[in-house]
Amino acid sequence: MADLILLPGKERSVLRRHPWIFAGSVARLEGRARPGDTVIVKDAQGTPLARAAWSPSSQIRARVWSFDPDLSVDHAWFKRAVAASVARRAAHPWLAGQDGVRLIHGESDGLPGVIADRYGEVVVVQLTSAGSDKWRDAIVAGLAQATGCRAVYERSDSDVRKLEGLEPVTGLVHGALPDAPLTIVEHGVRMEVDVAAGHKTGFYLDQRDNRRLTGQLAADRDVLNCFCYTGGFSLQALAGGARSVLSIDSSGPALATAARNVALNPQLDAARAEWREDDVFQALRALRAEGRRFDLIILDPPKFAPSAAHAERAARAYKDINLLGLRLLKEGGILMTYSCSGGIGLELFQKIVAGAAADVGVDARILHRLCAAPDHPVGLAVPEGEYLKGLACQVS
Ligand code: SAH
Repeated sequence: MADLILLPGKERSVLRRHPWIFAGSVARLEGRARPGDTVIVKDAQGTPLARAAWSPSSQIRARVWSFDPDLSVDHAWFKRAVAASVARRAAHPWLAGQDGVRLIHGESDGLPGVIADRYGEVVVVQLTSAGSDKWRDAIVAGLAQATGCRAVYERSDSDVRKLEGLEPVTGLVHGALPDAPLTIVEHGVRMEVDVAAGHKTGFYLDQRDNRRLTGQLAADRDVLNCFCYTGGFSLQALAGGARSVLSIDSSGPALATAARNVALNPQLDAARAEWREDDVFQALRALRAEGRRFDLIILDPPKFAPSAAHAERAARAYKDINLLGLRLLKEGGILMTYSCSGGIGLELFQKIVAGAAADVGVDARILHRLCAAPDHPVGLAVPEGEYLKGLACQVS
């Protein structure tokens, strides 16, 4: 096994159990390693610190599997790590019994570059690093064994693989997919999940509990759901007794799934739902021109800032939609606004929303601070893992 020798002082973040070793921290590699191979991380004096996956084409040159440098990282180690992550979900009362659950959340679950989401009988796995790609068989075997699911489907088609020099990989890797469309029940609402062609691994599980809160706030309200995807927030609002729900997304296929989701839930009053295929920025201006106003507005846009480098342009886009949204709120109305950009921190996001409210000339207060559901934990050593943040603000 090759040794990765750190520059003097660069052992500090490893000692704090941060799993990323950046190119600028590496003095040299002693020995030979191919992409994804396990290397022993040593400080400048040669003291072993950790075992990590070597990733020569990425700026994150190595990702730590184990902070015990003597522990062998093999098939059995992966099976144990996967089983432990799955068991943590089963033990949490909000997650136990859920159909749609994130089983492995990468670095924060001690498995850098590994995402696994369970949708009923199917697990979708996404491998985004050279190390996780190399251990595909062990990870898939571990998931199949720990969950007893009938299929594992791979969706390693995220753009971040390019940074690791990896091609996209998708397809069935274990068992057989069910013939009928896959559905899950989330807080009483049935939703279709397309694991092959849906966004990410098929669904946005991170918003599960925020969707429930939306349902609880929706009774007798006129609701506007922007960036609705397959209608998760909209259906919870209908279930919560909303008077009307207008949902907007630019994706025709997502809206077609949303329509099927309404049909899957005969308990909901479909006549209260209106769907628009449109660009949200334009649609919000058009709604203002139409004189429409709402009691509850959800803004859950895509990642405008994939990294801190995009933060400035993204901040303008966030300010724009929040400003446009706030203008459509009735007095006493609530704005539920989100950012899933890692490059925009909570403090900055709150400033952006405050700036939008000031420009519109409304007073607003935060009722709820929102984050991802507990199957998307944030490792205390890996604050970068915190990406989803939201505010529920009431205006007067
Ligand atoms: N709220 C959703 C997830 C939203 S993901 C849920 O709970 O499941 C972001 C969505 O924004 C995607 O469905 C994407 O199609 C849509 N989108 C991206 N840019 C858009 C734009 N400019 N106008 C409208 N929709 C957009």
